[in-house]
Amino acid sequence: MVNGNYVIDAHCHIYPEKIAARAVAGTDAFYGTTARCPQGTVAELLEVGKQAGTDHFIVQSVATTPKQVRSINEFIAANVAEAKGLLTGLGTMHPLCEDIRGEMEHLKELGLKGVKIHPDIQAFPLDHPGFLEMYGICSEMGLPVLMHTGDYRYDYSNPNRLIPVLEQFPNLTVIGAHFGGWSIWEEATEKMAKYPNLYVDCSSSLPFMEHPEISVKLVRTYGANRVLYGTDFPMWSPVEEIDHFLALDLTEEERRLIFSENAKTLFGLDL
Ligand SMILES: [Zn+2]
Repeated sequence: MVNGNYVIDAHCHIYPEKIAARAVAGTDAFYGTTARCPQGTVAELLEVGKQAGTDHFIVQSVATTPKQVRSINEFIAANVAEAKGLLTGLGTMHPLCEDIRGEMEHLKELGLKGVKIHPDIQAFPLDHPGFLEMYGICSEMGLPVLMHTGDYRYDYSNPNRLIPVLEQFPNLTVIGAHFGGWSIWEEATEKMAKYPNLYVDCSSSLPFMEHPEISVKLVRTYGANRVLYGTDFPMWSPVEEIDHFLALDLTEEERRLIFSENAKTLFGLDL
């Protein structure tokens, strides 16, 4: 709890212990960052999350080869089962998987509540035919897709690719990480706020705005009922991220929606 609010961190990356250090180093190299939480394991997430006052975590990991999809989805599901109600899991998908429907059915059977993709790290555009097939199946199954969006260095996850997808799949729920466009936050919000099937999260965004008022403006342009709280663990410290969020001049009702209500509704969580 934070100031009486139930807190769901809807954007947490976790890795198996054996490869966690390498995976964290890979993300650091990709973004030129130094992860605030160097381990990237569930144990570390639960520990720093507790310090931050986080009540529940939505965990995910991204496949960079088709072969990894099944093992990652099983890894996430196993951790959810072990964590006794503290974690909700998202599966992942790779656009070159031979049997996308089969993998989606497996993911759903594992009890995973959505799909996480990262077009920039996967190095496939978000409108690749394999992803388009997956969006159709997600619409049918009622599973939201959390995707990394935006990067001034690449075009794979640009709003210009996402807008036609939002139009083609009106029943698909997309959560565009980082206000729909990392590093192009304001441009993305301006272009995409009008699409009702797009939700966003505020991870990896708040400290990079020139003024906290810009973040408040982005929240209100989408509407607080379409924004989720997330930290992008292990890249940032959940303790510091809570402080960045609490520094925003939002109403209690807006905070309640962003901290927990929107994630509960989108992922069908009974917490
Ligand atoms: Zn992410």
